[in-house]
Amino acid sequence: MLNSRTNEEIELLRKSNMLVSLTLAEIARHIAPGITTLKLDAIAESFIRDHGAVPAFKGYNGFPATLCTSVNEEIVHGIPSAYELREGDIISVDCGVVLNGYYGDTAFTFAVGNIDDRVQKLLDYTRASLEEGVKEAVAGNRVGDISFAVQSKAESGGFSVVRELVGHGIGVKLHEAPEIPNFGKRGTGPKLPKGLVICIEPMINMGTKETVQKSDGWTIVTSDGMPSAHFEYAVAVDNGKADVLSTFRFIDEVLKNR
Ligand code: MG
Ligand code: MG
Repeated sequence: MLNSRTNEEIELLRKSNMLVSLTLAEIARHIAPGITTLKLDAIAESFIRDHGAVPAFKGYNGFPATLCTSVNEEIVHGIPSAYELREGDIISVDCGVVLNGYYGDTAFTFAVGNIDDRVQKLLDYTRASLEEGVKEAVAGNRVGDISFAVQSKAESGGFSVVRELVGHGIGVKLHEAPEIPNFGKRGTGPKLPKGLVICIEPMINMGTKETVQKSDGWTIVTSDGMPSAHFEYAVAVDNGKADVLSTFRFIDEVLKNR
């Protein structure tokens, strides 16, 4: 059985995901050539703790940091380090928190300074594929309807969909059932009940869909070394229209004003 959350629980999950959304906007203010991913991680951890929450990723299966920072060909699960961002890089910043026992999990891929037009197109299509997936997160649809929508949008831009990593349910654990693949067929998979809260998180590659894990035991990279993008929302399934619990609105405001 899939967990359907009460309205009260959905409001708690909205608070958790709002805090992650605000944390990512705080990170947006600092994304620039020369900053290290470790510094971004320290900023995020302080911000989260100052708001009475705990970083959800730190210690999760032994992960050492608050953020996953995945640069260029790194798809997800990059570990913050002394690496200094460079003009033309892209960086996926994935962040999770626990607040009042409920989890938030949201991700955004940032451009560092000016980036190649083709890389910008990858970011635009990945974000748009997330929005297409969200449209399908309505009660009575199936997981495959979300998967199909994400895949169709991403592939329409000439990009490829990572298979090995998927979205997930979220609630009182970071990862709950069901899995939400970013590829699939309409009308297949579990039916979505009203109140189910899921993370939809397309990971979209410019080149091959094939992945490799780095020797650090965490970082997943594209096997051809070409860039990859990643955007994630937590979404409550509802009648007629999905209730998106994360928001990029604060990030967009920061990016617009710089
Ligand atoms: Mg995430
Ligand atoms: Mg996630």
